[in-house]
Amino acid sequence: MKIDLSTASYGDKKRLDFCTDVSELFREEQFSDIRPCEVRIGYEVLDGTVKVIGECRVNLTSLCYRCGDPVTVTMARELCETFIEDGDGEEFYAYTGNIIDLTPMLRDLIITNFPTVILCSEDCRGLCFECGTNLNHSDCKCDHTQETGENPFEILKNSGGTDNGSSKDKNIKTKK
Ligand SMILES: [Zn+2]
Ligand SMILES: [Zn+2]
Repeated sequence: MKIDLSTASYGDKKRLDFCTDVSELFREEQFSDIRPCEVRIGYEVLDGTVKVIGECRVNLTSLCYRCGDPVTVTMARELCETFIEDGDGEEFYAYTGNIIDLTPMLRDLIITNFPTVILCSEDCRGLCFECGTNLNHSDCKCDHTQETGENPFEILKNSGGTDNGSSKDKNIKTKK
């Protein structure tokens, strides 16, 4: 999406609402489905500078970090950016001629605000380490106590038996 300044003059304030397809920008990312991004902005034209204020909202479908199920997440963020004519693009976005391309700004906004770990729910149970079953949908027959057990010496205690005094002493030590 672009702002055309060819008919704008100093001090102009305008509103711009649009929907733009941003899926092309995220071909390399883990998002599997990206709805068009809704953008509502106002911009003010100054001398060699354009201020852009508004908000952007986008729905992305990504995969749950634990179980791999698709999850759709909505991200809404306010934006406030300055575009400088013929700038170096380091501190502020740059534009040349009469055209401001808003695409890099939208891309940065979405990338920097998106959570790196997306979960289908806070208590997602994930996949079974042994058989890969999605534990949110069904239980499997694997024994999960070994991976999740609070006490890693549980097995030693059970197999050690009570045949002699020394193993009892060891158990007592590990509990401390
Ligand atoms: Zn999940
Ligand atoms: Zn399993």
